[in-house]
Amino acid sequence: MLELKNITKSYRTKDFVQNALNKVSISFRENEFASILGASGSGKTTMLNVIGGLDQYDDGDLIIEGISTKEYKSSDWDAYRNRRVGFVFQSYNLIPHQTALSNVELALTLSGVSPKERKERAIAALDEVGLIDHIHKLPTQLSGGQMQRVAIARALINDPEIVLADEPTGALDSSTSDQVMNLLEEIAKDRLVIMVTHNSELAKTYTNRIIELKDGEVIGDSNPHTVVLKDDLVGAKKQKNQKMSFLTALSLSVSNLLTKKGRTFITAIAGSIGIIGVAAILALASGINLYIAEIEQDTMSAYPITVDSSGIDITSFLTGEDGLIESPNNKEVKDNEIPVINTVTSLFSFQSKNDLKSFKKYIEKDRSKIDPYVKNIQYQYGITPQIYLPDQSLGISQVNPDTIYSKYGFSNVGGADIISGAGDFGMKNFSELPGDVSLFENQYDVVAGRWPSSKDELVVVLMGSGSLTDTTAYTLGLKDRKILENMFENLVNDENFEEDDSKDLILDYDKVLDVKYKLINPAQKYTYDKSYDIWVDKSQDSKFMRETINNGLDLEIVGIVKVNPDTDTPMLNSGIYYPSDLATYLISEAKTYDIVKQQIDNPEINVFTGKRFDEEVELAPEDMFSLEDFISIDQSKIQQSFN
Ligand code: ADP
Ligand code: MG
Repeated sequence: MLELKNITKSYRTKDFVQNALNKVSISFRENEFASILGASGSGKTTMLNVIGGLDQYDDGDLIIEGISTKEYKSSDWDAYRNRRVGFVFQSYNLIPHQTALSNVELALTLSGVSPKERKERAIAALDEVGLIDHIHKLPTQLSGGQMQRVAIARALINDPEIVLADEPTGALDSSTSDQVMNLLEEIAKDRLVIMVTHNSELAKTYTNRIIELKDGEVIGDSNPHTVVLKDDLVGAKKQKNQKMSFLTALSLSVSNLLTKKGRTFITAIAGSIGIIGVAAILALASGINLYIAEIEQDTMSAYPITVDSSGIDITSFLTGEDGLIESPNNKEVKDNEIPVINTVTSLFSFQSKNDLKSFKKYIEKDRSKIDPYVKNIQYQYGITPQIYLPDQSLGISQVNPDTIYSKYGFSNVGGADIISGAGDFGMKNFSELPGDVSLFENQYDVVAGRWPSSKDELVVVLMGSGSLTDTTAYTLGLKDRKILENMFENLVNDENFEEDDSKDLILDYDKVLDVKYKLINPAQKYTYDKSYDIWVDKSQDSKFMRETINNGLDLEIVGIVKVNPDTDTPMLNSGIYYPSDLATYLISEAKTYDIVKQQIDNPEINVFTGKRFDEEVELAPEDMFSLEDFISIDQSKIQQSFN
């Protein structure tokens, strides 16, 4: 099944060529325990690395399952290394700050296996090598023999057909060596095990075949195998699933990148710049592009594709025919003239409006055609619930959008909302839960209470560490909002920074579950002025507002959830969430207010001014540009990155 044909490999350094393998031809059986014996520097490691696809040969051919590897692409090598070969090294190559279990699990991280199955299989593999009692120990807490058994478990986890071991007992005493050799002997019963050693005693005792190397040449083979070429075998067997192997293909030092933390970090970056082609970024970051599948769903749920009502094609804006970069000005310029480049003016020509109404109709109509390709479709209506703390003893506290921030000129810039964009000013402290609960519910553990079950119930999402930010604490009213306001005040007036004395605040679950809010409909902020036949904004009339808020809808926090450790890319950030039912409720409720009815009945007349809209020149906030208008995705570029 594995055959080396005149394999030659040399290492070139500056002015010296070292011949490491010289016309090596060996054929291995599907099932044997072979050892490669030779002095140090004879080419054993080089040969093993060539067999394992860790190193490329210069000349000759490596035949796998009757197929030449001469035309192998890097993806073929990846598939081969990951699915068919397991490696065991003299130095164990375990990751020091990870437990035995994680070290073994790591080898499965990118193989498309669910976290649960990953764990089960890793435990089973560790059990098989006799380490069931040590799975939670760090490598430093294990003996050499135990570390090597962890490495063997790791090599076996993908159930490879070939196990390659480079001096696996090189660092072990003789009795521990015997244990490891027994284990390899056991493993060799149903697969090919090739072990490199310079210990002829071990080779004789345990292996069925000894191949001797000297100066890169085979000088002896105790049990040679001649290949019978079965015609039907050649080209018949296709590669197993292509999956990348990082443990081996890359040096172990970069494998950290592929652990949970590393990946979340990279996906977070990708998300924060609004690119859905996270995979492209990952591929750039690690030089590999094969393990996208597993994180694809997670990523898509955290950073879904969004279609906005308007957008600017930033790519053509910058580079297109009329773009800034390509054509500053086509007119000929004399020595004493300054050409003027269109920036503001050309902005408008690149803005496009999406007809979302028709788009939605189209989606609903052909839902059955679209369904196979989507997990979920979510509509957002840009609703910002107006939420207040019920306690008015120190004045009105609006927590969504948070008026303390807007009062001092701070709104949601640089925050998570920069892309979903708020038409409102102020800090949005409450977010809408996606309508499809199944998308995220299993990503979180409920640590107190329960998930919301009706529109007036809220849930607090903690960070992975189980904490929440002071921003949320202020929103909950559990940190003194007056102090927050003072801090802003001092900042704006350039005065000394007054520190919050509740710096190391710790909150009881019960306290959080006790928090209640009041919700009003924005339409309630206006009263009708008969004499002018217009609607007047009463939001600055505190007596009016107090009463309105008191009569508002009660909201309560019913649960606290925390992202569970198995979730790589959680859908919800830390913060306070309301059910999407609340948004739908606010929309339908709005229609019951006179101001809204009047506006709907007279769409040309602005209810606030009594004038026709087309007589007004002022731009409404929603017609101004916001940052989201400048972000769009160039599909073809992403496509290219994937290819
Ligand atoms: P062994 O494992 O039998 O000790 P190796 O396969 O490691 O031998 O090395 C075979 C020869 O190739 C040695 O002379 C070694 O110095 C040389 N060699 C191995 N790796 C490299 C390298 N990366 N660069 C240059 N020379 C190398
Ligand atoms: Mg070696």
